[in-house]
Amino acid sequence: LTAHHYIGRFAPSPTGPLHFGSLVTATASFLDARSNGGKWLVRMEDLDKPREVVGAAKDILDTLESFGFHWDDEVLFQSQRTQLYQNTLEQLQSLNLAYTCGCSRKEINASAVLGIDGPVYPGFCRQGLATGKRARTWRLRVNDQPISFEDLIQGEQSQLLSQQVGDFVIRRGDGLFAYQLAVVVDDALQGITHIVRGADLLDSTPRQLFLQQQLGFTTPAYAHVPIATNLQGEKLSKQTRAQPVKLRDSGVVLCRVLRFLGLQPPIELAHVPLDELWKWAIQHWQVQNVPKLRRQVTLIPTASD
Ligand code: GLU
Repeated sequence: LTAHHYIGRFAPSPTGPLHFGSLVTATASFLDARSNGGKWLVRMEDLDKPREVVGAAKDILDTLESFGFHWDDEVLFQSQRTQLYQNTLEQLQSLNLAYTCGCSRKEINASAVLGIDGPVYPGFCRQGLATGKRARTWRLRVNDQPISFEDLIQGEQSQLLSQQVGDFVIRRGDGLFAYQLAVVVDDALQGITHIVRGADLLDSTPRQLFLQQQLGFTTPAYAHVPIATNLQGEKLSKQTRAQPVKLRDSGVVLCRVLRFLGLQPPIELAHVPLDELWKWAIQHWQVQNVPKLRRQVTLIPTASD
């Protein structure tokens, strides 16, 4: 068995229909895979059942198909893989890297310093559950080694987990496995070599690298594309009333996506058959041309227009 030289993926969460922002990520990961002669997989990150919207998974897949995306292999659903995450948690326990924590959010907030992504866990349960506490979450013990990597778009990155994140949750109080754990397990088991995704996850990447290192997994290459925002600088989402993308103007929408990603499609491209549009985009794709920004404003119609 030989490893494929390039396996990329798009990993949407089924929390709503595909909108411009998610289409940007799908397009970037697809173009990077195809222009490198690689495989492109779709993985449905449907672990967070409380946030899932009924029908969204199917809707996302149908929309991708109608925009002319073709994925390799079967779509993988994280909700069917909890046993794998459980095995990994047990492995981390046996390495003495995972521990149970009984602290409430309130207790943590009251004494934590603010880190890169919320409060830095002050470590109350690090040496064993604080007295009188009931285990709620599982946390991963981090260390003082800086985690560095070179992002293909955003450049050199470095984080000190102990100071900027703290021991982070890998299994939540409600029993669900955390995104950080599941994403690392799946990227490794699916043999993902290149991760192209939104820059809102740039700050999560060192946590994922750390987990990969502890579990003996290979670290893939990372490229974080800018997040699409409205004029107010808010990420496009259901909350900011980003409209689902419509098939009717697929060429026009895709050309906007290409421009957002630093390509310069000729105006006629919006009106050619989709397979021709994709052919042009695959030929012209250059990951280095993607703007080196974490967020980028895009003027697209919203529900209020
Ligand atoms: N499921 C995550 C999201 O939709 C993306 C995970 C990833 O690409 O690593 O934000």
